[in-house]
Order: sequence, then C-alpha cells, then structure tokens
Amino acid sequence: MTTGYVIVAAGRGRRAGAGLAKQWRTVAGKPVARWTLERFAGRGALVMVIHPDDQALAAQVCTGLDVTLVHGAAERSGSVKAGLEAFQDAPPDKVLIHDVARCCVPDTVIHAVEEALHTHAGAAPALAVTDALWTGAGGLVSGTTDRDGLFRAQTPQGFIYTDILSAHRAHPQDAADDVAVARAAGLDVAIVVGDERNLKITTPEDFARAETLLKETKMDIRLGNGYDVHAFEDGDHVILCGVKIPHDKALKGHSDADVGMHAVTDAIYGALAEGDIGRHFPPSDPQWKGAASEIFLKHAAELARSKGFTLSNVDCTLICERPKIGPHAPAMMAEMARIMGLEMDRVSIKATTSEQLGFTGREEGIAAIATATLVKA
Ligand code: MG
Repeated sequence: MTTGYVIVAAGRGRRAGAGLAKQWRTVAGKPVARWTLERFAGRGALVMVIHPDDQALAAQVCTGLDVTLVHGAAERSGSVKAGLEAFQDAPPDKVLIHDVARCCVPDTVIHAVEEALHTHAGAAPALAVTDALWTGAGGLVSGTTDRDGLFRAQTPQGFIYTDILSAHRAHPQDAADDVAVARAAGLDVAIVVGDERNLKITTPEDFARAETLLKETKMDIRLGNGYDVHAFEDGDHVILCGVKIPHDKALKGHSDADVGMHAVTDAIYGALAEGDIGRHFPPSDPQWKGAASEIFLKHAAELARSKGFTLSNVDCTLICERPKIGPHAPAMMAEMARIMGLEMDRVSIKATTSEQLGFTGREEGIAAIATATLVKA
C-alpha cells in the first residue's frame, strides 16, 4: 500500500501578524512549512500546494527535500483538488491531506490516521470538546450548548486516494475541510484521537506555543556502519576515497573498487535501514561495471536528505600495509566532503595496518570500516 501526502500551503492568511504569510515565517529556527514538510518527508510522494506568487519562496523552503510544488486555487477545496490531481501519473492507494500551519503534528497522530485507513474510507484526528460551550450576544452569555458529541477537528485527514479525488471532483464549491467533502460524497470518516500539540498556528501567540513544542521535539539520531574488502590484482594504481594513488597493484572489483567509499556509502544506507550498495546498484547490472563509486555515495547522501536527515559526520578507517594513506588523507577528505556536500571537518579518513597479520597484513587486499551519523531535528 502506498500513501501520498498533500500539504496545503496556498493560503495568504495574515491573522498571525503583518508581513509574510504565516507558513513562510520562522519558528524555532526554520520556516513553518519546512517543519511541516520534514514531518512527512520520506514517508511517500509529497506534494505542497502553494500560491503562484510564493513559488520562489517555496522552492527555497523545499531545498534538499523531494517535494512536488503545485499551484493552488483561490479557495481551499480547489487547492486540495489541484494537489490530488498532481498524483495522477502514479496514484497512491491512500492520501493524507494536512494543513501547513500544523507544523507540530506528532508522528503518533499521522500513524493513527494511516492505521484507521485499513478499515475505513476516511479517517481524521479530533479532540473531544471538554470546556462548557456558551452562546453569547452583546457581551453577555445568551445560552449554553450541549458539548456531547462535539469534536475539534485536526489534520492530517486521510482517505482512499481514488475516493477523495472523485469526491473533490464532484464538489466544486468550497468546504471547511476534506472531511466535509468526503461526507458529501457519502464516505465514512473515522475519528482517531488527536493531540493538543497538533495546534494550528493562527495568532502570534500560537507562534510562541509552537516554538516551545518544536524545541521539545526529540532529535532523531541514526548511526550506521559499513565494512568492505577488495582483493589486489595486477595494476599500477588504486582509487581510495576518490583519490587515485600510484601503487604496484590494483584493486579488483565490479566498479572502480573504491573500498573506502563503499564502506562510507554502506554506513549511510545502514543508518537509513536502506540495505547496502548491492541493493541499490546490483553488481549483476552491467551498467555499473567500472562505474565511479561517486555515483553510489552521492545517491546515499541524497537519499538521506530526501528523508529529512542531515549528514552530521562520517569516519572511515582504511586497513592496509601499503600504499601509505597519510600523505593522501587530506585530498581524500576533501573529495569525500565535496561528494557528500559536507564541510571538511565532518569527514575523517584515517588508516591503520594490521601488523602484517591476516589478509591485509599479507597484502592480499584492502579492508575499510566506516561510521556515519545522520540527524533529523
Ligand atoms: Mg565494494
């Protein structure tokens, strides 16, 4: 089952104060829309619906994330419909539609909506109303209203994709939310438990609350390790961490046999629980024969970013008696940093011998081990 995600960010609402629309303003160090996108990045195809005038701003906010930008309409329903239509080439089974201004949405709420879609055509989070409800007129209480059965609706609101697309196509007028559109089409929508932290930023006070909540959010820190070995064969150079080093042997392998770069690449895949190089670039596929390993490392680093992770550091140890690594280490670190888009002080390449013991000691090949740290804040 695949799930697509639509972030609705086409509004121009300025109730939150003067200046930029609230979704582009900064809270806890990042634009509101960035926080929201990172909540959903890496889960499935991600679409953000924006006002056409916000194209440049939105593109900047999406840097490094895999997001399709779609231009919305004057009314909310039209914008959601445009977002849903954007999946036409590869329709997901399910879709979650979320207000950009709910940038603190907990993973538990997203998960609860997705779970409920196993048994319902629609599902949305809400909180039961616990305060007494009054009506008022002229500054006086004019009556009380029974709060039983009343809920405060939140997003993401989730649906079977084809159902909600048909419902929006059949519902040209605006609606309060997608649950209203779904119900107008006769779909059942399950209520799942919402969360007080899932606030919708509307007023300047909400920015302060969101700031506190986002700073409390736990960091997601991932470590991965990688290990690789390549045997020597006849030749006159080796390629280690992207640097060509003259040697009286070469390393044998399907690609350029860059054992260090392979270990680092596997460490990044490992941190993401995304298998290893062989899974993404099968050795059985002739197109990778002799390939520069840079392609693999770039892919792993981009995959990490597309899932909302920052590559914090990598550390790699090459294990061999010869060639001497020390003189080439600065060039290796510079090359690895360039490929991964990192500062040099986040990349460590070092070497050890194995005291002439074992296969590396007998100079039958070179081994490499690596660690990578990924952080999603
Ligand atoms: Mg290898």
